[in-house]
Amino acid sequence: MIKFLDLQSINNRHKDSLMDAFERVLDSGWYIMGAQLNKFEKNFAAYCGTKHAIGVANGLDALILILRAYKELGNFKDGDEVIVPANTYIASILAISANNLVPVLVEPNLQTFNIDPKLIEAAITEKTVAILPVHLYGQLCEMDEIISIAKKHNLKIIEDCAQAHGAMSLGGIKAGNFGDAAGFSFYPGKNLGALGDAGAITTNDAALAETISALLNYGSRVKYENIYKGVNSRLDELQASLLDVKLASLENETELRRKVANRYLTEINNPKIILPLVDFQESHVWHLFVIRTENRTELQQYLTSQGIQTVIHYPIPPHKQKAYEELNHLSLPISEKIHREVISLPISQVMLDEEVSRVIEVVNNY
Ligand SMILES: *Cc1c(COP(=O)(O)O)cnc(C)c1O
Repeated sequence: MIKFLDLQSINNRHKDSLMDAFERVLDSGWYIMGAQLNKFEKNFAAYCGTKHAIGVANGLDALILILRAYKELGNFKDGDEVIVPANTYIASILAISANNLVPVLVEPNLQTFNIDPKLIEAAITEKTVAILPVHLYGQLCEMDEIISIAKKHNLKIIEDCAQAHGAMSLGGIKAGNFGDAAGFSFYPGKNLGALGDAGAITTNDAALAETISALLNYGSRVKYENIYKGVNSRLDELQASLLDVKLASLENETELRRKVANRYLTEINNPKIILPLVDFQESHVWHLFVIRTENRTELQQYLTSQGIQTVIHYPIPPHKQKAYEELNHLSLPISEKIHREVISLPISQVMLDEEVSRVIEVVNNY
């Protein structure tokens, strides 16, 4: 069987260095907020090109803490609106509502799956304070357009980079360095994955970074002095040290993903399949390879019968979820079409050439 994602193989490539890292942390006797975290934060900031990277417990917390910090700093208040793509993973929207802010859903572009910048201005009201673009499936949003809209209307930009570690613009700017702040996830299946939950925030804003650092540690800068009603959302030494090992290979592994994606893009030629539109090589890190087809269930069953695992990202749009009853009345036809038609093919840095060939063959035979 060709697995959708083989996490064991993905981590086994790094087994020796991961074991060494574990031993270093074990032997240090220091497990929270220490040298490993500092080192990873420094290296991840350098990787993204930002002044600051702050480790947090997971990707959802990263987004929650950015929005929360803007509230503490007086930029946002309860009831303010944040523009977000309608077809994102639910976490982007949860971060907004968790802060008593209001998610305003904007339709994506059907070809790229990313928020359509042409539709953003119509969604801006007096209450809008931020745009939260999501580089979905690993491809950068149209950031030039989004940045100029944000400047014109004086809005913050908070990037959701959970799927886009290392995606880069033609000008050499990496995901996480386009806006005011960005949230990353290191969930095991993400392009840079921990062996558990982990996340980070990147920003060039020192005041924001300082506020977030306090919020994630009980709202405290000096031990036992609490300036905010904070939370515990720390990235531990062990995960930080494991991530630091894997960060060193991220660029190589992204190149391996691009090789798989390029083969799919050039060799899949079935009129029933619509391939994703790619802006240019560097803009996409291929967290997922998502195609569209009219009869998705039929295709998925066929692939399963041929021993190929697939996953749907995502089956139910956020505005149709029970958790968001207040959004259930919305009609978002592009997003709904995407949720009906998408299916993700296996892609990773450990896929063998013959596995890729087999997926192509089966998809073309469908
Ligand atoms: C994974 C993901 C998150 C949340 O990350 P966790 O680490 O699972 O909390 C947020 N946004 C998007 C787009 C994601 O894919």
